[in-house]
Amino acid sequence: MRFPCVKPEHAPFLVGEDKVQIGGIVPGIAAVIPDPDGWVWALLVLLDGTRTVGQVAAALVHRFPERPESDVRDAVDELYRAGHLYDADAVGAGEPLDERYATTRALWRCMDRTPRPDGGDVQELVRQARVALIGVGGVGCAAAQALTRCGVGGLHLVDPDVVERSNLGHQGLYTRRDLGTPKVIAARRRLRAHNDDVEITVERAPVEGPERLRRLAADHDVLVMAADTPAAIRDWTNEACLATGTPWTYGGYHGPLVQVGAYLPGAGPCYRCARAGDAEPPITAWPGKSPAVHAASSVSAGYAGLTVAHLALSLLTGVPALPHHNEYRLNLVTWRSEIVEAPSAGCPACR
Ligand SMILES: [Zn+2]
Repeated sequence: MRFPCVKPEHAPFLVGEDKVQIGGIVPGIAAVIPDPDGWVWALLVLLDGTRTVGQVAAALVHRFPERPESDVRDAVDELYRAGHLYDADAVGAGEPLDERYATTRALWRCMDRTPRPDGGDVQELVRQARVALIGVGGVGCAAAQALTRCGVGGLHLVDPDVVERSNLGHQGLYTRRDLGTPKVIAARRRLRAHNDDVEITVERAPVEGPERLRRLAADHDVLVMAADTPAAIRDWTNEACLATGTPWTYGGYHGPLVQVGAYLPGAGPCYRCARAGDAEPPITAWPGKSPAVHAASSVSAGYAGLTVAHLALSLLTGVPALPHHNEYRLNLVTWRSEIVEAPSAGCPACR
């Protein structure tokens, strides 16, 4: 590292007189470093990208003659490995970028704990990614919008339906003028208006078995399952993605309970593993009237869709480095979140 620089998003601050906090205030990113003699703060002030490590060490040794130069090199190394520094001299570090992605890129840099010399190539990983999105209903609309605004390279939409009036309350890409239009066509029109950098392709067709999913998985870097019918669709996706090795994520809701999951085949338990241990007693359904429509609002569907987009981006870039292979739940009634961990033993699907 030639010119080490603290990421602006990780700007440190002094806490009282003997501690330094770096990485902001968010747990998982921030770190508190004891600093009884002010050496750490003095080091961080020098790490502004205008000095080589040697120049930083010389300046610091002059001020703190009792601390050897090797301490400076070790500390710079540790701060870099913790994801707080980048090299101001690295290719790409100072490149002007499309302002459209300025805030998104800043968030990548903030969340990213992976040491990267130029500090900012996560947006490039996103730009190169091709995503298949199955189902452009409530969850899919929110996911598609987020992925498009984040600047994924390609987004392939699959859905057989047309826009109906009952969709307008929770499927955020559609307006009254889209009634009767195939969802994939209306969605593409709207998404292109958001960001025409993204190559949006569409397929107006139902998913009737694992074979189509296998083709979609093979052709894309990540598969986002935002459809909940047919009932076996997640099992099919699991099977298809295990066969092709494609990362995938799903999102849905059960009334106000938002449920999402993400899987990286081969790196942990699969979707089916999580259900392998289910030994619940059989239930008998009430014979009365079943609900005419799903219970959903733009809030519940939006939460599921935005979260699934977040998981897809995490699968694509490793940022943030989430613990995948679990189901995440957010209960909008109690405001509690929960991680349902899959058992680590293998199941018939992924063994
Ligand atoms: Zn499994």
